[in-house]
Amino acid sequence: METEAPIKEVIEEIKECGGDAVKFCYQCGKCDTVCPWNKVTTFSMRKLIREATFGIPEIELEEVWRCTTCGKCPQECPRDVKQIDDMVALRRMATGYGVSPAFLKPVRSASASLAAEGNPFVQERAKRADWAEGLNVKTFTEEMEVLYFPCCYVSYDQRLKEVAQATARILSKAGVEFGILGTKENCCGESIRKTGNEKVFKSMARENIKTFIENGVKKILVSSPHCYHTFKNEYPEFKVNFEVVHISQYLCELINEGRLQISKEYGKKVTYHDPCYLGRHNGIYDEPRGVLKKIPGLELNEMAESRQDSLCCGMGGGRIWIDTKMSERFSNLRIEEAIGLGAEVLVTSCPYCIDALEESRSGLNYEDVIQVKDITEILQEVI
Ligand code: SF4
Ligand code: SF4
Repeated sequence: METEAPIKEVIEEIKECGGDAVKFCYQCGKCDTVCPWNKVTTFSMRKLIREATFGIPEIELEEVWRCTTCGKCPQECPRDVKQIDDMVALRRMATGYGVSPAFLKPVRSASASLAAEGNPFVQERAKRADWAEGLNVKTFTEEMEVLYFPCCYVSYDQRLKEVAQATARILSKAGVEFGILGTKENCCGESIRKTGNEKVFKSMARENIKTFIENGVKKILVSSPHCYHTFKNEYPEFKVNFEVVHISQYLCELINEGRLQISKEYGKKVTYHDPCYLGRHNGIYDEPRGVLKKIPGLELNEMAESRQDSLCCGMGGGRIWIDTKMSERFSNLRIEEAIGLGAEVLVTSCPYCIDALEESRSGLNYEDVIQVKDITEILQEVI
């Protein structure tokens, strides 16, 4: 029985890292039938769970790092196996052992940059608020209505800065007293946590929480569903509770309360892509649609894979930093689906989704066929 000892140790370690639920799996394979990876290649969550159950996970292979944490298989699993927690547990083990194959090099770089500058892009902290230049955005003070927390992508990425700028223009137009923390912000830490790096996640979370408390923050408005998820569902692990609002919810509220008037038409065919971390992970489906339906002239058509069946863009779970072959990008399928529906604009409400969909749009030469927009970018055109 000598061979059982190391396996039991590994099983115990998986449990300690948060993957205890693997033991409930009865290998039905439902997870594999819904996983978006099987639209583009062959991938088996069922097999990974089985290997983990026997204490023989292959943590050095890319398979363990494929799951985008989209949330589709956990909602179908009849045994509540918590596949996302299980994969993060294996990644934590790998991180603990210093397992670092070449495909994880960008994750190592992101992690080092997070620790040094609070963002994953090797960008200077001092430039975090540059997106706001010329927009008269104030520094947050505690008597303000809301703190706007734009996230790293929206702060630094050239394309996504347009989302932060649209948001600031809309808030100003609605007369919302808001401010930003600029260089005092750190990444929320959601994606690095999903790669198994608890140390960097905790450091990001603690610094943000300290900054929020020191600055009297009570209500946080976010552009990214990943920030929303982390602030709302994970920061309470640190015994704090801030009111967290996603921009799609806030826009809906501003329109319904009459603070934001829509004065123009938007005569285009539009379809809405539900981001995994807004939809499946947090149940926010109606508010973004509610905003779009208030815009005169806008024709909203639903894709077959919408709401809880939405197709993942491919960027969650740390995949935003890991290179995915062009032929294996879920976002390519999403763009094709939107075009097949006759949409002129594919609208969403997540920086990761916009990044993936924009890359697919240009990679597939669809620049003249369809536009990709954040919900704020449409709204700023009609107010
Ligand atoms: S759906 Fe759940 S029970 Fe079925 S194989 Fe997948 S993890 Fe196991
Ligand atoms: S969470 Fe999504 S990406 Fe991950 S294995 Fe399940 S269906 Fe596939």
